[in-house]
Formats: sequence, structure tokens, C-alpha cells
Amino acid sequence: MNILLVGAGLSGAIIGRTLAEAGHNITIIDGRDHIGGNCHTERDAETNVMVHVYGPHIFHTDDEEVWNYVNSFTTFMPYKNRVKTTSQGQVFSLPINLHTINQYYNKTLRPAEARDFIENEIADKSITDPQTFEEQAMRFVGPDLYKAFFEGYTIKQWGCSPTELPASILKRLPVRFNYDDNYFFHKFQGMPENGYTPMIEAILDHENITVHLETWFDPDTAGEYDHVFYSGPLDGYFGYKLGRLGYRTLDFEKFTDKGDYQGCAVMNYGDREVPYTRITEHKHFSPWEEHEGTVCYKEFSRACEPEDIPYYPIRQVKEKALLSDYVKLAEETGGVTFVGRLGTYRYLDMDVTIREAMDTAAAFLESAAKGEKMPAFVQNPL
Ligand SMILES: Cc1cc2nc3c(=O)[nH]c(=O)nc-3n(C[C@H](O)[C@H](O)[C@H](O)COP(=O)(O)OP(=O)(O)OC[C@H]3O[C@@H](n4cnc5c(N)ncnc54)[C@H](O)[C@@H]3O)c2cc1C
Repeated sequence: MNILLVGAGLSGAIIGRTLAEAGHNITIIDGRDHIGGNCHTERDAETNVMVHVYGPHIFHTDDEEVWNYVNSFTTFMPYKNRVKTTSQGQVFSLPINLHTINQYYNKTLRPAEARDFIENEIADKSITDPQTFEEQAMRFVGPDLYKAFFEGYTIKQWGCSPTELPASILKRLPVRFNYDDNYFFHKFQGMPENGYTPMIEAILDHENITVHLETWFDPDTAGEYDHVFYSGPLDGYFGYKLGRLGYRTLDFEKFTDKGDYQGCAVMNYGDREVPYTRITEHKHFSPWEEHEGTVCYKEFSRACEPEDIPYYPIRQVKEKALLSDYVKLAEETGGVTFVGRLGTYRYLDMDVTIREAMDTAAAFLESAAKGEKMPAFVQNPL
């Protein structure tokens, strides 16, 4: 079959590769002038540091099949994400752990003592059924740690008060009563030695795959293909005719320096008065490399306008209602399957994107073998 994939990010590349290996003719288009989607990496011309152009990407997963898949296309180097935060004039360790608690309260508590201290002296136990993000945080860590580490950061990141966000955002107890400062719990963690773009280039390197960059999707051409997989914005496919799904976008203010600017890859800024949410220093994402210069990005979050890059789907009640209308439209369309972070309007980590792309390709091959039609969604976006 002749199959069109819109988007040369992880979703398009992995679905394309799997179907190419099954003998189909694959055309992949992307409006940008590079492959890799938001995972795109490139060397900074001034410092030669590998930079993550659309924000830092750290690979972490418990899915062994996904881990083996990415390792079959590139070499992964060990990398553990350790995040610091500057708040109220001090630097603390994140996620909130025993070091953070002892430093904040000027104590030398051991794990059981710290748990007892937070639960019985600090947490707001009057909140029995937390409904909002703020109540959830107050219930678990009390007002001091909430203000220092959650309130200002969340207002900057989401542009609204934590009282307007659901408690579910802060699902588990956001505190560790030990000194483990590894940001992620996953079994497999790492960073591709030469960045993500060469990895995706290797995935796309197949005789049945043709890639066209700087080519935006024209819905009128969809009929020329036996099937289309679309990893662009769901509302964009329909010309935004029902309205726009809300996103947060990011502005990155780049600056360079010599040596080591901040001593770590990610420094959050918890105070509301500091307009950016964090500074990322990209040489620390490749700790096996050495560079004299360094390149950093101040990250600012704001509401996404039509000409901006959509980053984080908002998915509140209003957006979900509109999403549901677009899902109905998509299901009536036929011949196109919506995939990936934009096509299904969800925040997806890379490992989840890869898992879903593998499952979508498998579902397509199965339905083609049975002569059945491919649905608009393999993963329910609602
Ligand atoms: C700020 C940020 C940080 C992140 N950090 C991490 C992290 O640390 N670890 C992690 O696991 N995940 C991270 N992610 C998630 C990761 O970026 C996604 O999992 C991944 O990019 C999803 O791939 P995709 O192919 O679905 O989408 P994308 O990467 O967005 O690719 C979609 C592609 O489609 C193209 N396109 C869109 N519309 C059209 C059109 N109409 N015509 C032609 N082309 C079109 C776009 O140009 C783009 O290249 C992060 C995401 C964000 C927003």
C-alpha cells in the first residue's frame, strides 16, 4: 500500500519504519526543515554543545521492548536527571527529599523522623478530601514547602492559580524520605550519545521510506494514499473550524558563557517574581563530552497563540469538551489515523510515544491482513 505519514517525529518515524519493513511504500512529510519533531537535537555552532532545540529530553522507561528498540538504532549513554531549584534565596534539591527537608527546616532528621515531622507537624491534616492542586500539596507537604516549591512554579508554568488545577496533577506523595534525588523512578534511563536526531535518522533509513521536509500537509492530497497517519495537531487537520484546543507554549531565551554556568543541567526557579520557570544548561545533558563554552536557555511559559509551537495540552473541562467534538469529526472522516502527542492532544513522554507508535503500526498490519478499516484512533484521546 501507499501510505502517507504527516510528521517526521518519533510517531511518524516508528510507524513508517514498521510498515516499510512489512513492504509498504512510505511517504513522510514534515513542515519543518528537519526530522525528529520536538526531540530534535543539533550541535550549537558557537560552542559545539549538543542542544535540545525544543527543550530538554531525557529518556526514561520501564518498557524493555521500547528500550531495546531505541538501543537498536543508537548508543545510549548513562544519564540520570538531577534537578535543583532556586527558591527564597537558597538552592535546594528536587524532588523534595530528605536533603530538601533538612535544609529547609535546618534539621538533621533521619527518614522515619522526617516522615513523622512532615505528617504530624507540617502537613495540613484538616484537608481530608483534596480537590485542587493546592489542597493536595498542602495536605502532603504543608504551606511552607508548598509555597517554596509548588505555588510560584505552577503559576508560571500553567498561567493559573493552583486552586484552579485538579488535585490529580499531584498524584502521589511528592516527597521522598531518603536522599534519592534521581528525578525518575524508571529502570532504564539514558541519553543518545549523538543526540535524538541521528537516532530518528537511523529509524527512517529504509529503502521503502521517502522523506520530504518543508512540506506542510494538504488535506486534498489525502485521497492519493491508501491510508494517512497524521501526527500534527488534531484541530489543525480540520482547519480549526470548531475552535482551537488550548496549549501552553514555551519561549527559550538563549545565552552562552565560558566553562560551567550553573553546575547542573536543570535549575528550576520557584519564586513567582523570577519570570522564567527554569534555566537548562545543555552541556550537562552530555556529561561524557567536554566543551570550553556553554549554552543555556531561560524557559518562559505562556498561553499558545496561533503562530506559536504548541507544547503542553491544557486538557481542562473546556478543552476536553472541544476535544470530544474533534474526536467525533475525526471518527467520521475515514482513511486517516490520528497519532502522537498532537494528533491525540495528550502529553506523552517519548517512551509512551514509541510504545503507542509500535502498537498503532501492529494494529494497522493486523487490520490490513483482515481487510478491515483502520480506526481514527488506536489510543482514545479523551
Ligand atoms: C518541553 C517538552 C519537554 C519534553 N521532555 C521530555 C523528556 O524529558 N522525556 C520524554 O520522554 N519526553 C519528553 N517530551 C515529550 C516528547 O517531546 C514527545 O514524546 C515526542 O516529541 C512526541 O513525538 P511525536 O512524533 O508524537 O510529535 P512531535 O515530536 O511533535 O512531531 C510531530 C511532527 O509533525 C510535524 N507536523 C505537524 N503538523 C504538520 C503538518 N500539518 N504538516 C506537516 N508536518 C506537520 C511537526 O513539524 C513535527 O515535526 C517533552 C515534551 C515537551 C513539550
